[in-house]
Amino acid sequence: MNMDKFAQQIQEVRQRTEVLNQHVVGQSCSPQQDLLVQAFEELQFALEELRVAEEEVRVQNDELVVARSLVEQERQRYMDLFDFAPDGYLVTDTNGTILEANRTAAHQLQVSQQYLQSKPLVNFVPLEERQAFRSQLLQLRDKEGLCEWEICLLSREGNKFDCSLSVTTVYDLQGNSIRWRWLMRDITARKQAEQQIRSIQLQNLQLQEAARIKSQFVANMSHELRTPLHAILGFSQLLLRRYYDHFPSELRSMVERIISSGKHLLALIEDILDFSTLEAGRLNLQKQEFNLVELVTTVTEELRFLADQKNLTLAIHIDIQNHRIVNDSNRVRQVLVNLLSNAIKFTDTGGVFVEVQQVGQDRVVLIVRDTGIGIAEDELKNIFQEFRQVNESITRRHGGTGLGLAIVDKLLRLMNGKITVKSKLGEGSTFRVELPRQVS
Ligand code: ADP
Repeated sequence: MNMDKFAQQIQEVRQRTEVLNQHVVGQSCSPQQDLLVQAFEELQFALEELRVAEEEVRVQNDELVVARSLVEQERQRYMDLFDFAPDGYLVTDTNGTILEANRTAAHQLQVSQQYLQSKPLVNFVPLEERQAFRSQLLQLRDKEGLCEWEICLLSREGNKFDCSLSVTTVYDLQGNSIRWRWLMRDITARKQAEQQIRSIQLQNLQLQEAARIKSQFVANMSHELRTPLHAILGFSQLLLRRYYDHFPSELRSMVERIISSGKHLLALIEDILDFSTLEAGRLNLQKQEFNLVELVTTVTEELRFLADQKNLTLAIHIDIQNHRIVNDSNRVRQVLVNLLSNAIKFTDTGGVFVEVQQVGQDRVVLIVRDTGIGIAEDELKNIFQEFRQVNESITRRHGGTGLGLAIVDKLLRLMNGKITVKSKLGEGSTFRVELPRQVS
C-alpha cells in the first residue's frame, strides 16, 4: 500500500477520535461516559502505536526500494554479461525448445533474438544430422553434469558453421530437470586451422619422404661413383709405380694428373656422401677412447706440407692436462682437417695456429686461427650452410664444394658439441670447436 495514503488515513482517524473525545468529555459524567472516555484514551494509545509502526514500515519500505534498485542493477549487469558474451548462450526446455537466447547466439544463427523464442533448436541443425542430434537430446535427459560435443549448425541464411556445444541441466526443487543451458562456441576458425595443420603435416611427411628418397639416391650414387673411381685411382697409381722408369716425362705427368684429379673427385664424392648421410640422420659415431693431443699433432703434421708450400707458419699450442677423450676419432679428424685445410687455403701470409684447451672438467676446445683473408660480418652466419661459399671468385680459385663447414657443423651437433667463428675481413678468422670430453 502507498505509505503516504496510509499515514494520512491514520491521521484522519486520529483527528476524528480527538473530536469525539472532546465531545464526550464535555458531557455530564456518568459511568458509561467514563467507560467511553477510557475507550477513547485506549484508542488514542493504539493510534499512537500504529503511527510508530507506520514510521517503521516507512523506513523498511525505503530500505526495500534501495534493495530493489540494487537487485535490478545486478540483474541488468548479468543480462548485459549474458547478452554481450563472446559465445552464444541459450536456455531451452528439456525438449530443446528455445526459451532465452543472447545476442551472440542470435548473431551466430543469423536471426533476431525475438525470432529464436519458442523455436526448436533442432531447426538449426542440418537435415542429415538431425537424427543424431535428437538422440543426443534424449541421452541428455539421463546425464548429469556438463555434456560437451561438437556439431555443425546451420544459420537461418543457410550458412553452416562448426560449433562446440556445452550443456548443463537446471533442476527444480524436487530434483526434476526442467531446463538446459547451452553454450555455443563457433569453432570454424579452429577447425580450419586444424585442417591446415593436417595438410601441412601431410605435406611435411611427403617432403620428408622426398628428402629421404633424395638422400638415399645421393648416397647410392656416391657409392656407385666411388667404386669405379677407386679402380681408376688404383690402376693409375699401379701404372705409375710399375712403369715409372719406362714412361717419358710427358706420359708420367699425364698419369699424375689423372691421379690428382681422381683424388680430388673422390674427396668431393666423400663430402657429398657424408653430407647426405648426416642429413638423413643415418650417420653413427664409432666411439672409442683416444688421445686428442696425439690426433691434433698428427693431423697438423700431415698438412704441414700445404703450409710450407705457401711459406706459412703452422704452430700448435697445447693447454690441456688430460689428453684422452671418448669420441669418433675419424670424425674428429675430419673436423680438424676441414678447418685446418680451409685456414691454409684462405691464408697467403702469416700463419695458422692450432690450440687445444680445456673448459671445466668435461669439455675440450679446439681452436684454429689464421691470418688470412677473413670473412665479412654479414657472411659469417651463412658459411655453415651447405653449398655456401663466401666470395665465389676467390673460392673458385681455391676450389672446394661449400660442403666442408656444413658437414663440420652437422658432425659437431651429432657429437653434442658446437662450432663458432670470429673473423675480420683482411685480418683472419678464428674457428672455435667445443666438444664434450665423453660423447654420450
Ligand atoms: P669450401 O669447400 O668452399 O671450403 P667450406 O664449407 O669449407 O666450403 O667453407 C665455406 C666457405 O667459408 C668457403 O668457401 C670460404 O668462403 C669460407 N671460409 C671457410 N673457412 C675460411 C677461412 N679460414 N678463412 C676465410 N674464409 C673461410
